[in-house]
This record gives sequence, structure tokens and C-alpha cells, in this order.
Amino acid sequence: MRCPHCNSRDFGKIGANQFYCWGCFMEFNVTGEDVRIYEVAEDGSLVALDEVAEAVSVESSAV
Ligand SMILES: [Zn+2]
Repeated sequence: MRCPHCNSRDFGKIGANQFYCWGCFMEFNVTGEDVRIYEVAEDGSLVALDEVAEAVSVESSAV
């Protein structure tokens, strides 16, 4: 298994189905076939990567 975000093998298990990647500093959650990637915010909260992408595209389309 590799990191779904950066393809690195350098990640550790932090919980049931939960992993933290040292390559891209993302956290990811594997539930069967479903993989969700999270960015760890400065305050330690998790932001789903698709939410980040959406926020960026909304921001850029507003310009
Ligand atoms: Zn990674």
C-alpha cells in the first residue's frame, strides 16, 4: 500500500483505518475501497482534501 496522495510508502498507522503520511503530511482514512484524504490544519483539525479543492476553486472563480 502507498499514500493515495503522494505515492510514498513512508506513512504510519495512527488508528483503525487511519494513516498519517510523512511524505506529504496528509492524513488518510481507508474504509474498504473508499479513501479520503485530509489535510491537518494548524490547530490540529482535519480538513478533507476535496473540501480544500472546492474552496480554492470557489475562491479563484470569484476573482
Ligand atoms: Zn503522502
